[in-house]
Amino acid sequence: MAARTPLMAGNWKMNLDHHEATHLVQKLAWTLKDAKHDFAGVEVVVCPPFTDLRSVQTLVDADKLEIGYASQDISAHEKGAYTGEVSATMLSKLGVSYAVVGHSERREHHAEDDALVGAKTKAALGAGIVPIVCVGEGLDVRQAGEQVSYTLAQVDGALAGISAEDAAKVVIAYEPVWAIGTGEVATPEDAQEVCAAIRARLAELYSADVAGAVRVLYGGSVKSTNVASIMAQTDVDGALVGGASLQAEEFAAIVRFQ
Ligand code: PEP
Repeated sequence: MAARTPLMAGNWKMNLDHHEATHLVQKLAWTLKDAKHDFAGVEVVVCPPFTDLRSVQTLVDADKLEIGYASQDISAHEKGAYTGEVSATMLSKLGVSYAVVGHSERREHHAEDDALVGAKTKAALGAGIVPIVCVGEGLDVRQAGEQVSYTLAQVDGALAGISAEDAAKVVIAYEPVWAIGTGEVATPEDAQEVCAAIRARLAELYSADVAGAVRVLYGGSVKSTNVASIMAQTDVDGALVGGASLQAEEFAAIVRFQ
């Protein structure tokens, strides 16, 4: 089975206008170029706000940058009367290769449930966009020791009705909610426990091949100082990085995690 390519994705959340976005991508590209040998084989993706995507696309295409870009959300609908939403086809035309789906902030502030997350996952795959499906428990669930069953139920919901062929393309980001933006990172063992359980669930739902192909990321207060121990875990294939992805040097250091 081919080794999984590590994926480092920077979720900018609602930060940076399109001028600031191109500045950051340019700076990131320069920083990474200086240390190309240190991160060969790592896929680097940024997730800017919708309004920045066109500018990022222009820069990436013009300078042939080896940086992918993702949307932070995607509509479950194809087109029509859905004011404020952005469809998978529109995003695909902008060269978007990944879409974050079901981030805990969308689950919390926009009442996204597993059914909607599943519909968004399907919409992304239908347009050739790889969904980065976010799952993970809140503090109460963690304190009750139910993080595995809670997270696996979210995985089941996101993948319901999705074929093995499509499931093999999906990226799953395990992001314990209590670790997002708090500075409180999960221990490498905590991250491994749930990421391994996610992979085992993929084997149950589909096959060992699908489980072996899917990249499982960890997200939650990842920094250059803690990324190496997390990436050393067998079932962690990358990171979804929020705050630390807004600084080029810091994100580049995370990308060069070895
Ligand atoms: C995130 O937004 O997905 C995230 C993990 O944020 P942070 O790295 O800031 O905790």
